[in-house]
Amino acid sequence: MRRLLPILAAGALWVGACSGDGPGPTGRADGPSPAGPSGSAGPPVTTTTTLSPLPLGPAQPATDSCPAVPGQTAPDPDRPRYTMSVRVLPGEAAVEGRLTVRFRPDLATDRLVFRLWPNGPRPAAAGAHLEVGPVFLGAPVPVPTDRPDPTTLVVPLESGLGAGDLIEATMPWRLSLPGNSDDRLAHSGDAIRLGSFFPVLAWEPGVGWATDPPTAGLAETSMAPVADFAYSVTVPDGLDVLASGVREGSRWRAAATRDIAISIGRFRTAEAEARAPGPVAVTVGVHESLDEDPEAYLTKVVDALEDFARRFGPHPYPTYTLALTPGLSGGVEYPGHVMQGPGTLARTTSHEVAHQWFYSLVGNHQGRDPWLDEGLATWAEARFENSLDRIVDRSVPSVGRDQVGRPMAFWDDHPAAYYRSVYVQGAQALAALGDADGVDCALRHYVATQAFAVARPEHLRSALEVRFADAGATLAAFGAV
Ligand SMILES: [Zn+2]
Repeated sequence: MRRLLPILAAGALWVGACSGDGPGPTGRADGPSPAGPSGSAGPPVTTTTTLSPLPLGPAQPATDSCPAVPGQTAPDPDRPRYTMSVRVLPGEAAVEGRLTVRFRPDLATDRLVFRLWPNGPRPAAAGAHLEVGPVFLGAPVPVPTDRPDPTTLVVPLESGLGAGDLIEATMPWRLSLPGNSDDRLAHSGDAIRLGSFFPVLAWEPGVGWATDPPTAGLAETSMAPVADFAYSVTVPDGLDVLASGVREGSRWRAAATRDIAISIGRFRTAEAEARAPGPVAVTVGVHESLDEDPEAYLTKVVDALEDFARRFGPHPYPTYTLALTPGLSGGVEYPGHVMQGPGTLARTTSHEVAHQWFYSLVGNHQGRDPWLDEGLATWAEARFENSLDRIVDRSVPSVGRDQVGRPMAFWDDHPAAYYRSVYVQGAQALAALGDADGVDCALRHYVATQAFAVARPEHLRSALEVRFADAGATLAAFGAV
């Protein structure tokens, strides 16, 4: 039974940020937001709860080589809903924003936990800092908060929150940008990358709050449930924006997605529509300072989206944007938006497209189970690039051998072994099952049954057992489950 907590409109100000809006009598807030003037945090964003329905992958009958695949599971209808304004201030090397999030936990809790990833050791060392202003829970008086470490903001809930209860939190934030950093937060000339840049709810459905320490490496420890996002981005004249979700002028909407990311700059763009099998509008932008052909990346992204949809099941999101900006080695994946550096057309492009299935659609706790997305994305990359033999032949450092399932806290102590032990060895564990087409079939089961969820290694094992009865023993031999 669900209770609805009384929620009032928050009305406080912090560096000019405006208030959030309250839900209607049903806890929903259809229609325009009364958010009012925005001050320094950008224009108000229309609150949304009813984003376009997602086309879920249908069930598939059995074939000679693959047992029947169930239809993709639907996203949680009670998923969090974010509204956010983002105002980019290149002259101040800063970004200001205000977010409101509505959240219904599926388990009782006595707190809210937001992760502030820009304050992790790697971005902080580069000069990033995310500051959060007062937090409002519906009432006009801010509530006390705790900061157990720089990446964690805890909002204690005096009366607690029951399973299914609705709560709304509003907070302004300000991000100080680092300079030219080889990472997801960067500011070089007029090129800006914004990834993992705002306070994000770290709730794992069925488990609770994810409070794992941040990694020191170029990797992620984040975990987030799928949510709906409606956000605006304000940039100085002459700059363009490539971001997650469906664009309407300076506003974007993204349904049932774990995160959003944004790249800003002056881009040469190329656009096409992929069939995966529903239409996916693909936009590639190459920063004007780079001597790269957007059409080449576009062709590869479209090919990879269509290939992976055939292998692993439909891509349920309507857009994919890729921004190439200077000063980045390799790529960084986000749902619906990927950041890549120059010279990454080869395997990076297909690898990052694969993350739309393994991390974006089927989520995982990237701190606890990093191999679930990196190993599977490397498998997909190898299938697309026809490079599986080379991947299987690569040696794995002894410290990581048969340890593929270790968390980021372990790899932080062995950073030189991380790529080969997690990415390469993850794909090797799948290859060890046998027939590669059979692995693709089993991964189709995994995607269908874990779509929009946060999967664990045992979920992958169960899906693989549909096709390989001894999958559990094979994965165990690699330290995967
Ligand atoms: Zn990856």
